Amino acid sequence: DVNNPTGEPWKAHYAHPCAWDMQFPPLSLPEFFADAARRHADKPLVDFLGRRYSYSELYREALCFAAGLQQRGVAKGDRVGLFLPNVPIYVAAYYGAMIAGAIAVNFSPLYTAPELEAQVEDSGIRALVTIDSAALLPTALEVLDRSSLETLVVGSLADALPWGKGLALRLLGRKTLTAVPKRPDVARWSDVLLYDSSPEPVAIDPVEDLALLQYTGGTTGTPKGAMLTHQNLSANARQVEEIDPRKGERDMIMGVLPLFHVFANVCVLNRTVANGGCIAMLPRFDAGQALKTLERVRATAMPGVPTMYQALLDHPDLARTDFSSLRVCISGGAPLPAPLKERFEAATAARLVEGYGLTETSGVVSTNPYEGEDRAGTIGQPLPATRIRLLDKEDPLRDAPPGEPGELAIQGPQVMRGYWRRPEAAAAAFAEREDGRWLRTGDVATIDAEGYLQIVDRIKDMIAVGGFKVFPSQVEAVIAEHPAVKEVLVIGVPDAYRGESPRAYVTLAEGASETGDRLRDWLNARLGKHERVDRVVVRDSLPKTMIGKLDRKALRAEVL
Ligand code: AMP
Repeated sequence: DVNNPTGEPWKAHYAHPCAWDMQFPPLSLPEFFADAARRHADKPLVDFLGRRYSYSELYREALCFAAGLQQRGVAKGDRVGLFLPNVPIYVAAYYGAMIAGAIAVNFSPLYTAPELEAQVEDSGIRALVTIDSAALLPTALEVLDRSSLETLVVGSLADALPWGKGLALRLLGRKTLTAVPKRPDVARWSDVLLYDSSPEPVAIDPVEDLALLQYTGGTTGTPKGAMLTHQNLSANARQVEEIDPRKGERDMIMGVLPLFHVFANVCVLNRTVANGGCIAMLPRFDAGQALKTLERVRATAMPGVPTMYQALLDHPDLARTDFSSLRVCISGGAPLPAPLKERFEAATAARLVEGYGLTETSGVVSTNPYEGEDRAGTIGQPLPATRIRLLDKEDPLRDAPPGEPGELAIQGPQVMRGYWRRPEAAAAAFAEREDGRWLRTGDVATIDAEGYLQIVDRIKDMIAVGGFKVFPSQVEAVIAEHPAVKEVLVIGVPDAYRGESPRAYVTLAEGASETGDRLRDWLNARLGKHERVDRVVVRDSLPKTMIGKLDRKALRAEVL
């Protein structure tokens, strides 16, 4: 049973004789972190704007936090929320909650109070950890007043950063710290930590027990908590580490992706812990600061989303930056436009490889090789121990006809248990077939003879033009080639004759001036009859999700 429809195993780009059957022994995240803390004790795990935190320092802080949580009654299976930007206490709070036996719940630091409140109630967290920034604390306090949350734990940004606080605050968007109110339900991080007692050991079954609830819109829109086990997360970090030709070598990783997102959770945090590396954390992505940091720490790797690479490329300091330490950048979360990959690689001499994954798979499903044959426009080959199927788009119980695109479905140690308190949504996320239970991704893919996958589109994004299905990405890929176009999103709009028609929304490259009509004529001359757009709309900006992906859903909601 191998992934290749022709029956022959592919030569995977990572050298392992039985990659599909490779085993990742069950491992809990507390064990995983404890092991790294033993092996790399005095090595830095975090560089926060110049201040370094060692493995043993952050491990000890996690233990003290776990002990403090237990003293406050937090027990196995309770939920503890993290409402944090990329700051060092994120690491201690994340692993500390799990050491106490709790399930960590990640919340975006950009949430408004109603968004946060909805997920606080849904997950039923007992404690929420935040910091004393004016960008976060008022929101957390509002939710504390309105929800069933018992305790708010507030870390101090000033403690994390005796100097350079101003920069951290500026990156967080609000320039001030906020006084922590004296209330029985608000505790300071430093008061929760118990320095003179150890946490009670909690027995964890890595395969059965949940480590993290990770909220995602999924394919239906309402945020649902993907239930990720200890094994899901520790296996995915090890799978990613496994394909690295320099496996085990310590990386200096750029920590610019938000840690609350699963991509960063696995590829920045857990994966770094797996190889004893160091994370150069920025509280929030800023192209100029990222370039400065990259040079200062001599970063070796950077996971990011395509918009981040575009922002680095557009930054005036790019040409002055020394990229000689950087060996690989990993792009994921959204399609990486081929011209962006080319331009970025030419400007930095670092390789920019595309990978793919989703919240429901703890982060990563497939990736292009860091050193072997990189194929632009594909999402690479599946990770070891990851099996894939292309399901028939009409009937998921059958395979797509050979050579045809189908819905990508996944099996592997990284696949979630289900959605928190939503058994029906969870049931719909899997195809129960004779050959097992497969996670349906909602992404339509093709596969070539060597096992490189290509995402053609998302099922729900398909545009029905007459009786024909048009994929937005087909049209986006063509217009992205136009030198004046910086970003593009294509959506279907109602059309009296065609039922639906593709329409392109673009932003222009700096200094470019083009009209929508001229772009439309240029584009339509290069497209087939069904793919042709009714208009190209030039805009100053396009909506983006919190992690910086172009947001097709938001655009659709805005213009339709
Ligand atoms: P999320 O769970 O929010 O991380 O979103 C996962 C979705 O992002 C996937 O189902 C894909 O639709 C999309 N995605 C992730 N990586 C890629 C990629 N390299 N190319 C195209 N789409 C991607």
